[in-house]
Amino acid sequence: MTVIYESEDREGTKTREYYVVDAIPKKPRKLPREAYHDSFRELTGQMRLSLQAITPLYVGSGGYEFDSEGIYLPFARRSSELIIPGSSLKGVIRSYAEALSPSCFGGECQGETFCPCCAIFGAKDYSGRVSCLDAEPSDEYSTKTVEIKVRWGKKNRDRRGRRLYYHGDIWEAEKDTGERVEVVPAGTQFHFDLLFKNLAEWELGLLILAMGLSPQHRFELKMGGGKNRGLGSIRFELSEIQARQSKNSFSSFHIQTESLQVDKLVKIYFKKFPRYEEDIKQLIRDFHSRTKPEEDGLQ
Ligand SMILES: [Zn+2]
Repeated sequence: MTVIYESEDREGTKTREYYVVDAIPKKPRKLPREAYHDSFRELTGQMRLSLQAITPLYVGSGGYEFDSEGIYLPFARRSSELIIPGSSLKGVIRSYAEALSPSCFGGECQGETFCPCCAIFGAKDYSGRVSCLDAEPSDEYSTKTVEIKVRWGKKNRDRRGRRLYYHGDIWEAEKDTGERVEVVPAGTQFHFDLLFKNLAEWELGLLILAMGLSPQHRFELKMGGGKNRGLGSIRFELSEIQARQSKNSFSSFHIQTESLQVDKLVKIYFKKFPRYEEDIKQLIRDFHSRTKPEEDGLQ
């Protein structure tokens, strides 16, 4: 059964969060670890991607800074240049992949059996087969600080399920009553590489689906801080995907480079879990119907 419920804050105001419960089982029958390591038959390669901010985006570094107006939360940087850390990118892709597959929450699997996402992204003692490099701005960029509302959630609320977020306008606060964060404006573009090794075709299909890259199943994602206050709507675009596949399982294996068709891979993913295909498509439609850029004055 699928339940989607919306969240309220202490004053009873609807928040920008909603919860999806049991759309796709959280505890699938797990596969033995060896099943994911048929290392000479699978796909190894990289995707070149861009990320566009659809609303102002804030990805923090965990620290604080001061300016003439006081304290604020700065955007992440590497030697003074703005970046989106690869670990943040991997985290957001994983959370959507978990929502769209029979996977556990955030890497709970242990021992010798893994759900699909632990096998792809890693678990406690296993580093996974996907990594993202840090994203850098594609062009000249600017940042500004915005003051967003501090939102206190209702206590004692049953928060079972997977938390997702509406897209919408920034929820700005009156001066000196909110939280100041450094954002890049809507329209800012970043680029990065995603590296993968030994992925089965269905696993690569899940990655593509979870990033909203399938032309049939496009959607915008949310990332970074302030997601429930109008920040962090993003869109991924795939510029290039390269993969090589071994045709021989012995040491002198032949490597073939091929350009992969993303929709073919997504179809292979749906074939892997036919029981969940309709629920997965419904979830994606729901991600999308909760994106109303024209109503919210977004681009
Ligand atoms: Zn797991």
